[in-house]
Amino acid sequence: METTEKSARKSFVVMINLIGWMVLISASALGIIHFHECPVQSNLPIYLTVIGAGGLLSMLFMYLKNTMDDCLLARFCSVFILILCVFIVCWFFAGTYWIYSIYPPSYDVTNTTNHCHRTLYLFAFWFNNLCVLCISTLLVFFAELVAKCLQAREMAYCPYSKFPVGAAILTTGGAIVTGCNVENASYGLTVCAERTAIQRAVAEGNRRFTAIAVTCDVKDSFVGPCGACRQVLMEFGTEWDVYLIKPDGSYKKTSLRDLLPLAFTPAHLENN
Ligand SMILES: [Zn+2]
Repeated sequence: METTEKSARKSFVVMINLIGWMVLISASALGIIHFHECPVQSNLPIYLTVIGAGGLLSMLFMYLKNTMDDCLLARFCSVFILILCVFIVCWFFAGTYWIYSIYPPSYDVTNTTNHCHRTLYLFAFWFNNLCVLCISTLLVFFAELVAKCLQAREMAYCPYSKFPVGAAILTTGGAIVTGCNVENASYGLTVCAERTAIQRAVAEGNRRFTAIAVTCDVKDSFVGPCGACRQVLMEFGTEWDVYLIKPDGSYKKTSLRDLLPLAFTPAHLENN
């Protein structure tokens, strides 16, 4: 059952990656093929060519970085990806302006100076609209994850440590499950917020997760899950995004793989 779930998840990730590659290659190809066919907004073919190439380059460097351990080259890749992402975001905004500045366009090629190639324009139009939709959806999910994490901290039962912690887990189905630390007079029985959340999530029928947000009262630094919680999270996959949230809502993104390198996972038992 677990193996089937894992292979289904892997197939889904491969499919999403393939779609991403195809869309970006199509963007570049359309831009190059119809380079001079949008005289009314000549920046549009350049926009598609560059955003396609930039997206492909950033994906390539991400794959490269994931194959490397923490070394100088991996850090160089991270910096390069960051610079590329900043450029792509700015380029995206410029492209959005160029697309809408000629909306609705004329596809009539006999109108020599005031037309745009139909396929080129419609591809750019829907590419940007779908990107905005996807980014907005992700931002809404993320904002809700942070809000619920901060709310969960308010529920903490911590009469001994006076150190409230909140956690919120995002499942692959889009549900958010929260948890808080629950202390006990017999100190060893205390359960952390992350483990409360994951136990709740599993009890509600969830076993596949994409991200966890964790927060506490510390204002001047980002605080990560304890070692025990990192191991418990690792039981349900290595590819978690982990968001460390300060009380003011600012955050630092990391990953479970970075927080617990060379981890012992269920895969080690399967291999025996
Ligand atoms: Zn913990």
